[in-house]
Formats: sequence, structure tokens, C-alpha cells
Amino acid sequence: AEYLDRLRRTEPQLRSFLHVSQTAMREAGEVDRLVESGAELGPLTGVLVAVKDNICTADMPSTGGSRILGSYRPAFDATAVRRLREAGAIIVGKTNLDEFGMGSTTEGSGFQVTTNPWDVSRVPGGSSGGSAAAVSARQCVVSLGSDTGGSVRQPASFCGVVGMKPTYGRVSRFGLMAYASSLDVIGCFGSSVVDTAILLSAISGHDRLDATSSKHEVSDYAPQLVSLDHLESKPLKGLRVGVIRETTGEGVDVGVMSSVQAAASHLEQLGSIVTEVSLPSFSLGLPAYYILASSEASSNLSRYDGVRYGYQAAADELSSLYGDSRANGFGPEVKMRILMGTYALSAGYYDAYYKRAQQVRTLVRKSFKDALDKNDILISPAAPSAAYKIGEKTNDPLAMYAGDIMTVNVNLAGLPALVVPCGFVEGGPAGLPVGLQMIGAAFHEEKLLRVGHIFE
Ligand code: GLN
Repeated sequence: AEYLDRLRRTEPQLRSFLHVSQTAMREAGEVDRLVESGAELGPLTGVLVAVKDNICTADMPSTGGSRILGSYRPAFDATAVRRLREAGAIIVGKTNLDEFGMGSTTEGSGFQVTTNPWDVSRVPGGSSGGSAAAVSARQCVVSLGSDTGGSVRQPASFCGVVGMKPTYGRVSRFGLMAYASSLDVIGCFGSSVVDTAILLSAISGHDRLDATSSKHEVSDYAPQLVSLDHLESKPLKGLRVGVIRETTGEGVDVGVMSSVQAAASHLEQLGSIVTEVSLPSFSLGLPAYYILASSEASSNLSRYDGVRYGYQAAADELSSLYGDSRANGFGPEVKMRILMGTYALSAGYYDAYYKRAQQVRTLVRKSFKDALDKNDILISPAAPSAAYKIGEKTNDPLAMYAGDIMTVNVNLAGLPALVVPCGFVEGGPAGLPVGLQMIGAAFHEEKLLRVGHIFE
């Protein structure tokens, strides 16, 4: 009830939700009765979870932040949502995002702009800005987001919360609206690593409804964290940490860099061996990501034709029905991505763009593999700057894309990465949070969570 009260009070200013459940209050009330009755409780019984609005929920609208789905109500829950309900969670509402996950500020929503709880004149990051802001402002306990190129990690960094991007295939994508299917994953936000770990355990695992979901065993991530590690003076003894050289140079704010360096020294004091490591193809990741993500998006978004789902324009001919529904339903960023994607995939340009981007993807994978053969985890800033002002980058999409440099490579390689708050820079009424990104080998979520836990 405390969370729901706060939600009601803060929402007019934050606007992190597109829809708030009408039944959450009642469900929360029932929890007390359930506890008193001595019934067996799930790992998330009574926990208020917010869900990004590109993840389908049967009892609430699911718009993907797009006007084209303004009236869409799915007939089913996404697998991750179904698992949350089975674990006892209460879905408190659906959070705002950049349309279909395309953006880094949440300003690209078809409905509203979400503000950053640390400074309401700034963006919360994106595209899962609503989910990050909701946890940061304690409007809910934990939340789900999605991460195609950084959309969980960068808003976690901007809002000062924990954000986990799992290994590709760790969490079922069934019911997640596809943006770029070979990169998309559902991820978790929490105000602590333990909360995030509990949420991740609840949603992970194989699902026959998603052919790319992995059969790799799911461990219960949280209990491992509450180990005696903390009581030893060198709990990270022998942990090999590589600082990614390409993320520490030009273009990174000084304050961000010094927070990350302080985090590296902290890891060293706790016994880890910190060295610098180079990922030679790092800077190629950004253009490759934007070509691949836009190409996949142009194909995935062809399903929104005004017939199958959501908004339909009034038209007397089929071709104008398709055309007008898409012209009126999609926002400008989405249209730009579709144009970029169809261009990159077109016969005359395929070799020059799409194919080369796939080749870069192979190089990126290989350079991560080499670096992670020599190191247990890699670290970098989660974003080159702290949260910036609303409107600052709206007319400069390239500047916005450039801000994704720290995160996109991880999606190209399909690896897990955890962001934890590691410091502050000046700005806003109380300083602005900075996030540390830790990257691990595939399915090494547990290791990342264990190291992240040390920061709390
Ligand atoms: N900002 C990136 C993009 O616009 C990442 C988005 C995401 O991870 N969904 O594509």
C-alpha cells in the first residue's frame, strides 16, 4: 500500500506509467489474508512488479509505446509475466518506453515523456525509462524492461538503480513485442542486487513458446549472494577483472570516468586482479548495431498493417489502408528505422551494409570471447554521461545513438551484463547517479550478481 500511495503521489510528475492496474490495491490487500491463512507463499508473493509496455499482459493494454497499438489488448500474458504471476507477484501497471524500444530517452513514446526522479528536468534514459524511473522512485519494488542495445542498462545508470541484461535466450521472449529478434532480451530492474536476482530467477528458463530460449539450467540466483563472502577481507580474491580500454577514452565524461575508476580500485582492494583489456572491434559495434537492429525492425514491424492489430485508418482501398494506418500510427523515429532497415536490406546495398554489419558482429563476438577467456568479468561505464536534459538530443538522433556505445556490443555478442550504481556526478538537486557495467561470459549471471552485490 505504501508503494501504491507513493505511485499515486509521484506519478503526475514522473509519468512513468502508461497504465496502472485497477486491481493491484485489492490484490495487495489479499496478501495479508494469504499470509495469515498460513498458505504456501511464492518467492514473489505480494511483490509489486511494473512491466514495460512492450511486454504483453492479458489484463491490461499493451501498446509498445506506439499509437498504432493504442487500443491493443493481448489475449495472453508474456511467458515472463505468467511466471511472475505464478511466483505470486502483483503486476502494478505498464511502464512508458520509446516506441517499440527504439530510443535512449523515453521521449520517443507515442504518449508521454517520463522524467528522471533525480531531476525532473532530465530524461530517465531509455528505452525502458518508465521501468527504471518507477523503481528509482519506489513506485514499485522491481520491474521488467527489455534490452536490445542497452535499454535496461542505460536507464538503470541514469536513474541510479540496478539493471540486469541476461544472456540472450536466458529469458523467454514470448510476448515481448519484437524489435530486433536476434538482440532482444527481457531484463530486470531492482533497487538492490538481491531483488534483481530474485526477479531474474523467477522469469528465467526454457520455454517451448520461444525457440531461441535456452535449456541451460537456471540457478536460484539470490541465495548465492547471501554467502559469507562479505565477511572475508578479500572476498574477490583471484577474480580477474578487465577494464575495457576502448570505453575509457575520449567522449566519456570526466565524472563518469572517475566513478568507474573508483569502482575498479574498490574491486582491487577486495582482492581482484584488475588489468586493462582491448576489444579492437569495439567502435565498429555501434554502426553495425544500428544497421542490424533497423534491418530486423523493418521486417518485424511489417506485421502492423492496420488489419491484424490495433489502429486502423479509414480508407477505401487496401493499399491506402495499409499506408495510412502505418503513416498515422508510427512515430517519426520508428519510420526512420524502417527506412534505414529496408535500405540496408535492399538488393543493391545488402552486401555493403547488412552483410558487413554481420561480419562485424562476428568480430565483436570473437573479441569478447578472447577477452573473457583471460578475464572473469569486463567492466566499463554503462553510459558515457549521466542523465541529460529533456529535449537536449531530440533534434540530433546521431548524438543519441552515440550514447549507446557502451552497451550495444554486449547485445551483438548475446552476453549478460549487470549495471550497478557506482557514484555520482554533479547536477540536479542532489547529484546524478553513474552506473558501472559488468559483462560476463554467456550464462554467468550468477558471477555478475555476486560481484555486484559487493557494491551494496
Ligand atoms: N537505444 C537503442 C536503440 O534505440 C537501444 C534500444 C533498446 O535496447 N531497446 O536501438
